[in-house]
Amino acid sequence: MDQERAENGHLGGKVLDAVIIGAGLSGMYQLYRLRNLGLNVRVLEAGSGVGGTWYWNRYPGARFDSESYSYGYSFSPEILAKWNWKEHFAGQPEIEAYCNFVADELDLRKNIQFHTKVTSAKFCAESHHWDIETDGQGHFQARYLVTAIGALSATTFPRFEGINSFEGFSCHTSTWPKSGVDLAGKRVAVVGTGASGVQTIQEVAKVCSSLTVFQRRPNWCTPLNNGPIDREEMEDIRARYREIFERCQQTAASFIHTIDPRGTFEVDEKTRNEFWESLYAGRGFGIWQGNFRDILTDPEANRLISEFVANKIRNRVHDPKIAEMLIPKDHGFGTRRVPQETGYYEVYNEPHVSLVSMLDDPIERVTPKGIKTASHSYDFDVIIYATGFDAVTGSFDRIDLRGEGGIALRDVWQDGPKTFLGIMVEKFPNFFMILGPHSVLGNNPRSIEYGVEWVSDLIAFMENHHHKTVMADKSSADQWYEFVASKAEGLLANEVDSWMTGINLNVEGKQTRKLVRYSGSAQEYRDRCHQVAHQNYDELVFQ
Ligand code: NAP
Repeated sequence: MDQERAENGHLGGKVLDAVIIGAGLSGMYQLYRLRNLGLNVRVLEAGSGVGGTWYWNRYPGARFDSESYSYGYSFSPEILAKWNWKEHFAGQPEIEAYCNFVADELDLRKNIQFHTKVTSAKFCAESHHWDIETDGQGHFQARYLVTAIGALSATTFPRFEGINSFEGFSCHTSTWPKSGVDLAGKRVAVVGTGASGVQTIQEVAKVCSSLTVFQRRPNWCTPLNNGPIDREEMEDIRARYREIFERCQQTAASFIHTIDPRGTFEVDEKTRNEFWESLYAGRGFGIWQGNFRDILTDPEANRLISEFVANKIRNRVHDPKIAEMLIPKDHGFGTRRVPQETGYYEVYNEPHVSLVSMLDDPIERVTPKGIKTASHSYDFDVIIYATGFDAVTGSFDRIDLRGEGGIALRDVWQDGPKTFLGIMVEKFPNFFMILGPHSVLGNNPRSIEYGVEWVSDLIAFMENHHHKTVMADKSSADQWYEFVASKAEGLLANEVDSWMTGINLNVEGKQTRKLVRYSGSAQEYRDRCHQVAHQNYDELVFQ
């Protein structure tokens, strides 16, 4: 590795053109694009392989919630021609294989340094370089710094007393061991019922001897309706790739599901129920992203669809008391991220599965043998924490990022993130974020491709014009913040506690809602970014 680093400037003192943090879908594509500009680029990746989210999240049942063929890269005709998806919603092993296939096809690994965690990055005003420090794997200097660290990658555990005293096996879903965990015949606890928890629970229940689910607030889950893709169907999908990706460009959050232009009350009850039945029987996020136009803004429309989904839960769960425990009462359908399930509710009909509501019987502590709630002591062999992430800004907070004058990003963002286009930050020159706060989250690879291409075009512009640095100024950042705030108005989701509103009760300082997410449409977002580029980036400050 030392020789390799010397070649890339680490030991030889040569400055890299760009360092990219993270080798997930963002980092891989950013590397490809910057390398195509003739730049000397290095990706620093904490893991031992590519894939990011899809490298780390290898818990049982981890899979896409978006249609595989809408979620892969669209930029390379060769990749689209060669790769065959096997399921409508691919599982983690298939997704990781896809990421490795892309890395091989594009010969990416030669510019990626694995097992390397970036601990700090500081901008030096004299040299105009970023000084990048790692966890003992070298020091780097680069002209440009791109973060490709994901919006959901900073793991959070509950702050339970005694959490480290457990003598069995415990881990977080996003750090599931590569070697796997044998759960056959084991007494298993799962804490958390978000998208990761739901996928885990329905899979673990198949093999363990007993499963106890600790649920704080239930979520509205709807059927994934996955299925295999045979050769013939894959050929049909391949022939329609252009149409599929064009459709993703036209929808608000870049999913292939499109909002129905009708209002909930513009149709009669029979038509409404038939439509909802078809969505419930359909694939993926259709019922969330392809529903009537007002279900996420009109409280009465939202109440009706919530009641429709609640009745589905009541029909599927035999014990009415358990069914009611699984039905959210504190938020309406679709106002938090909708977990996609395959037989999730039926798991609670199994005799070896039990559900503990932490609202009624809170966890008091973890013991060497298991978990002690207010009223019971449970013994377990395995505890799985599906307790989510310090979302959106957490992965930035975990790196000591410092801009002009040594200003720390985590201080700048103390009261919530402020960015320009979700890509740049005032006082942070030559610093670019892919999937940063206030950029589009949704069908993320679509946002990633757009963000990477926009950043690459800006860097090409700088190279061509011999600019040393570029930065957003206060007025552009203020304007973008106002625009993001205006887009949040009227959305029921923004009146609910979730990672989308900046809440994580396990993290100090994240107990009150903040504007962390852009909730306008992807088209409006791209229009604004195009405008900046087409005006020769005259809103940015160059040196
Ligand atoms: P999450 O949605 O934040 O869910 C965390 C769960 O843990 C919640 O049920 C939460 O309860 C519970 N929890 C957290 N701290 C707790 C504590 N101290 N005590 C008790 N319960 C606690 O996290 P996630 O399920 O990992 O999903 C995060 C996001 O990742 C998703 O929204 C989605 O965007 C993405 N994801 C995507 C996929 C996919 O595309 N296939 C799969 C998984 C995840 P409360 O609700 O009460 O806080």
